[in-house]
Amino acid sequence: MAKGQLSMNLATTRGAWGFAEAVDGCLRHGVTAISPWRDQVAAIGLDEAARIVKANGLRVTGLCRGGMFPGVDAADRQKRIDDNFHAIDEAAALGADCLVLVVGGLPGSSRDIAEARKMVADGIAAIVPHARSAGIPLAIEPLHPMYAADRACVNTLAHANDLCDELDGLGIALDAYHVWWDPDLPRQIARAGRRVISYHVCDWLVPTTDFLLDRGMMGDGVIDLKGLRKLVEAQGYAGHVDVEIFSASNWWTRDPDEVLRVCLERFRTVV
Ligand code: ZN
Repeated sequence: MAKGQLSMNLATTRGAWGFAEAVDGCLRHGVTAISPWRDQVAAIGLDEAARIVKANGLRVTGLCRGGMFPGVDAADRQKRIDDNFHAIDEAAALGADCLVLVVGGLPGSSRDIAEARKMVADGIAAIVPHARSAGIPLAIEPLHPMYAADRACVNTLAHANDLCDELDGLGIALDAYHVWWDPDLPRQIARAGRRVISYHVCDWLVPTTDFLLDRGMMGDGVIDLKGLRKLVEAQGYAGHVDVEIFSASNWWTRDPDEVLRVCLERFRTVV
């Protein structure tokens, strides 16, 4: 594997392509690494997805996603842990490099974010042994604080590092979109060191019109992507760079072959 190759997160073309079409599209553009989502794998069937991966010699740089640990009661939390066991098994069947964890926000009508964060730590602790025996590294992805209530109550790299200190066997997925603003980022990247096992890019648009589905193409926003990547690779990160763009009103509406072309060009020039 050449250091720092592009991996296509299949969210980027989800507007037009399912799993099989996206793989064909990636191969047309010389991209041999992908990071699919569980719903995309489920739509075609895990066995068929695994067969396609194998038949084409694809690298699966991560499966998106596990997590979502906080629940309204013990039964709900257990159901979520069980779902993570399935996610780990799916990642193993695909030969994925890791399972990305988006940890979840406040359960139900809760206002107790400290408790939600404890549920996250407990949930991860509950799945670490299964992940270890399946040979699937877990990568916790800190999300931008605007998602603290509904998607992930782990919002800084410092917090992810704290959890890694607590939980042996946990790695980190670092997404430029979520962490670029953090004044503590250089120090926390150095602290994370080799814990970063997955690195994601897109760009932060100004203005952003939708906080979930208006991520920008690399180079169209304000993130110093080259600078950030340098910090990550200075710690020894030699894996792929996942291009992950949620863009309901722009990139998802375009011809996905054009999207891939632009991704590859920007990858060369600005990432
Ligand atoms: Zn990401």
